[in-house]
Formats: sequence, structure tokens, C-alpha cells
Amino acid sequence: QKPFLSVKDLKVHFSTEDGTVKAVDGLSFDLARGKTLGIVGESGSGKSVTNLTILGLHDPARTQIDGEIVLDGKDLLTATERELERLRGNTMSMIFQDALASLSPYHTIGRQIGETYRKHTGASKKEARARAIEMLRKVGIPQPDMRVDDYPHQFSGGMRQRAMIAMALVCDPELLIADEPTTALDVTVQAQIMDLLKELQQEFGTAIIFITHDLGVIADIADDVLVMYGGRCVERGTKKEVLGSPQHPYTLGLLSSMPSLEGPVDVPLSPIPGSPPSLLKPPTGCRFHPRCAFVDRVGGGRCAGESPVLELTGGRGSACHLPLDRRAEIFADLAAPR
Ligand code: SF4
Ligand code: MG
Repeated sequence: QKPFLSVKDLKVHFSTEDGTVKAVDGLSFDLARGKTLGIVGESGSGKSVTNLTILGLHDPARTQIDGEIVLDGKDLLTATERELERLRGNTMSMIFQDALASLSPYHTIGRQIGETYRKHTGASKKEARARAIEMLRKVGIPQPDMRVDDYPHQFSGGMRQRAMIAMALVCDPELLIADEPTTALDVTVQAQIMDLLKELQQEFGTAIIFITHDLGVIADIADDVLVMYGGRCVERGTKKEVLGSPQHPYTLGLLSSMPSLEGPVDVPLSPIPGSPPSLLKPPTGCRFHPRCAFVDRVGGGRCAGESPVLELTGGRGSACHLPLDRRAEIFADLAAPR
């Protein structure tokens, strides 16, 4: 059986004045219907670019794409703009961090939700308005029949986020891409929005790609996890595998800087030193090597010289030169008092 969404060896390169940015450099994953894949990484890891490419929202004149993106049997990379237009908002839709940027200030919330619905279903204005009210109710906006005529600026940040979710789900999409949708919200509202997404996923059976830099959010919502670093996948597995027994030093580093998560080994709480790599001139070999605490454990300058391959067994694996059978032990060493 074919997966619902299949991404194979995706490469997304942009031309800039300073040269080619290899924003995504050989990424593969599958996603089943109704499941949630969490993509985690720092900013500039390629996670947002991957998803804009799936949605067909990149600038074709400046972007070179290789590989394959197949959604429900449809090859998205060879789809025409017209076909993509039909899919966006209908079969696949998205929510972003900034609801104000996706909602127009000039039209009422109800009109915006309703227009998306009309565009894909041919419903009448009256039907679309009724659907907008129904969706606002579903996402927990009080008095939806009154609020439907409000403009975005009349909504609070959390309510705008709910309205954006209502708009994204109005056509019952099969794939929802959520790019840091709760990052700008306070913790309480964030938790409410996460609960709402989980409820709606149950109801609609939507597959979700959830992009975040926050492993706490991943722990809450994901079935499977993909960790990106420097445009590549460095680790993949089920949520339990990746959070419970990480294989990659970068994942270990992310986990150890998360105060709220119970880490697999007791590493002192600290963010990973250094900053994400330049994708114009990525580091040689393992892209994580300038920041890796374990680089000396691999002999012969291999980390700087040779790019580790992502070794997968049944969807589980990582890209690192450390011997896999000794990795837990090596990781535990770091935590031991010196
Ligand atoms: Fe660290 Fe080397 Fe593994 Fe890269 S390959 S994560 S530098 S140990
Ligand atoms: Mg982003």
C-alpha cells in the first residue's frame, strides 16, 4: 500500500546574490492518513522550506527542486499551478505562526472562511456563511453567529489563531501543515490550541505535519518525529524512540536543553553551543561537527571529512559516525561527573 504522502530525496536549492543556498538537501519521509509527523529543528534547518515546497508556495524562478513529493498518488512537483491551487485549501492546507499574516485585515473573519469554502465547493454565500459559523463554533469561538462579522483586529491573538485553524479546516483537508502555529501564544492558549488540533484531527482524520523547534510540543502531538539539521534529516523514529532513546548527538542536545522533558540520560541542562550552520557554505562532513560534543570520539577526522549516511531500519535511524551499539554508553559518559 502506498503512503498517503511520500517525500523522496527532496532537494530544494535557491539562488541568491551570494550563491546557492541548499535549504533542503536530500530529505525523505512518509506520512500515513490521520497521523502526525513532528519535524523538529532550529530556524534555518530547512523545515519550513520543506513544507512551502510541498504546498507549492516557493518562487519557481529562483528555486531548483529535485526529488519527489507524492500526495495521494499525485506528483506535486509536476503539478500545474492550477492543480496546486485546487489542492491548496482543499486537500492540503496550512496554519502558520502569524495569523495576522494569513488573514486579510480588509474582510470579516466569516467572509474569509466562507470564501475558501466557496472557492472549492461552489457553495452559495448563504451556505458559506453558515459553514463559517459552524467552523468558528468547532474551534471554540464563543457566540460564533455574532463574531463571524468581526474583522481580524477585533479578535485576540488566540482567537485569530483559532480562526486561522477554522479557515484551514473548512474544506476538510486530508493534510494539514502546521508551522510553529503556537509559538507566538502564551502557554495557556498554546495548550488550548494543541488540544483543539488533536480534537479536530480525531474528527476529520487529517494527517498533520507539525513543524516546531520545541520538543515539548512534539512530545504532546507527534506520532513520528523527524529531526532536521542543516537541511538534512539527522534522526527519525517514533516519538517514543526519538525522545526516549535518541541516537543523534544533536537530538540529545535538544533534549538536554528542555527543562520540561524527562531526558533519557541526565545531561546538565544547556542549550547546544554555537549556531546553526550556513546553508550557503555548509560545514564539511557531518554538518553538526563544529558543535558536536562527541566529535573526538570518532577517530581520523572522520566527522569533518565524511558525511554520515542516514541508516534506517524500518523508519528508525540516524546519521552519525559513532558506533550505534555503543551510543547510549557514550552519551551516558557525557553526563557522568568529571
Ligand atoms: Fe557528532 Fe561525528 Fe556524529 Fe556528526 S558524525 S553527530 S560530528 S559524532
Ligand atoms: Mg519556520
